[in-house]
Amino acid sequence: MATAEVERTVEPPARAGAAPAGGVEAARAAHAARRAALVERLRNATAPPRLEKEVSNLFRDRVPAPATRIDTREFRHVLAVDPVAGTVEVEGMCPYGDLVDATLPHGVMPAVVPELMGITIGGALAGIGIESSSFRHGLVHETILEFDVVTADGEVVTARPEGEHAELFFGFPNSYGTLGYAIRILAKTIPVKPCVRLEHRTFRDAESYYAALAAACDDPASDFVEGEIFARDRMVLSIGRFVDAAPYTSDYTFEKIYYKSILEREEDYLTTRDYIRRWDTDWFWCSKNLGMEIPLLRRLLGRERLNSLTYTRIMRWFNRWRLGRIYDLLGYRSESVIQDVGVPLARAPAFLAWFHDTIGILPVWNCPFRALHPHGFPLFRTPPGELWVNFGFWQPIRRREAKPDHWYNRQIERKIAELGGVKSLYSDSFYPEDEFWRHYDRAVYERLKRRYDPCGRLRGLYEKCVLKR
Ligand SMILES: Cc1cc2nc3c(=O)[nH]c(=O)nc-3n(C[C@H](O)[C@H](O)[C@H](O)COP(=O)(O)OP(=O)(O)OC[C@H]3O[C@@H](n4cnc5c(N)ncnc54)[C@H](O)[C@@H]3O)c2cc1C
Repeated sequence: MATAEVERTVEPPARAGAAPAGGVEAARAAHAARRAALVERLRNATAPPRLEKEVSNLFRDRVPAPATRIDTREFRHVLAVDPVAGTVEVEGMCPYGDLVDATLPHGVMPAVVPELMGITIGGALAGIGIESSSFRHGLVHETILEFDVVTADGEVVTARPEGEHAELFFGFPNSYGTLGYAIRILAKTIPVKPCVRLEHRTFRDAESYYAALAAACDDPASDFVEGEIFARDRMVLSIGRFVDAAPYTSDYTFEKIYYKSILEREEDYLTTRDYIRRWDTDWFWCSKNLGMEIPLLRRLLGRERLNSLTYTRIMRWFNRWRLGRIYDLLGYRSESVIQDVGVPLARAPAFLAWFHDTIGILPVWNCPFRALHPHGFPLFRTPPGELWVNFGFWQPIRRREAKPDHWYNRQIERKIAELGGVKSLYSDSFYPEDEFWRHYDRAVYERLKRRYDPCGRLRGLYEKCVLKR
């Protein structure tokens, strides 16, 4: 997987997941103090602010530019978990790994937890977060009840689905830090049981696979639904259900590899914590690009370091030294194709057939999701209630023959548009500007930009996500 550094990342402060011993009020007071200091830093910033956080899951380069680094690493505390109300109040830069560990002892988890444990709740809200519970609870932003945004000028506002900042509430998802930073978030939780029973069902043709996926999403007994495509004639539907007890639990956090188990087993049991982390240990299947499927390397690295944070650091080091150029020297042209795209379920078989013919990356991750809120989210609009399928594929394509720059990525952008789908912006995008704004609501975005960043201290969405400024 080719990748690139975007925001500056620095070493983490001490783990800060759980609320301090003083309780909720003390945690909120400490948050207020951190917030006041942040506001002060923003007001004194002499250059456009740029987020400095522990780690990034963004996969696109940015052109270096003068900026005032705004250190937000301290904003990673869980302030309050209320299992009765079904909510967790948390700071915006809290990684999901810490957030899950703070909520599980209360018998709850955030309703949607992205697979990579270093993804922060604010990053998933400002980007697009998805998981195998998204067929029921929507994308991450649908699970957010309210959030505080600090603007580039140091103003703090609370965005809710109603009231003065409602337009910001709906326009923030997919704005990627171009409207301000979410520093405090109130999110929905769901009750959990100790374990998850998994059923893996293999299909040979796309029609029956997607029909079964739709049926699993309609089944009230399903808690988690996702699919993995290993070949044209090998698709696996994985359905998870919470259970109180399990005859055994499998461990994919060290020597055994989760995605391989899907091909070998029809039934499996994981603890709920391990289920939530199942893709993190091997970065889905991308750790193999770093040799991490070699048993000796796994043992040398050790259980604690087998995770997406480690791989992200290795890839950044790899990129810093431009080691990927070795393929250029061997006469290959390389294009990084790291994308998550959504299409309506009805068009998923057509997209998959086209994908096999034109792109050919395997495996592919499928995750069903539904938009829930009738208002809709202007920068990531999908019709409420309709089942969609996310396709995730993350791999460089290397070839010897000449093709125009970004050929594969542009093909994907065009196909998604043709099928009425939508593309996440965490990675490379190559849309011409007018085409970009046909997919993401320009009028709403410009209104929000005028209101929340009137001096244009933060980059615009197109500049940031496509021009990489
Ligand atoms: C290989 C790969 C796989 C992925 N897989 C998944 C997946 O399975 N499920 C999933 O849900 N997502 C996935 N993502 C997408 C990921 O959720 C988004 O990229 C998300 O924005 C990353 O959040 P982060 O905390 O790592 O933020 P960063 O990567 O640090 O930042 C992402 C962007 O959001 C902005 N940002 C960060 N924090 C805030 C904040 N608090 N307020 C406002 N803006 C902010 C930053 O300025 C930046 O532009 C994947 C990404 C990659 C690269």
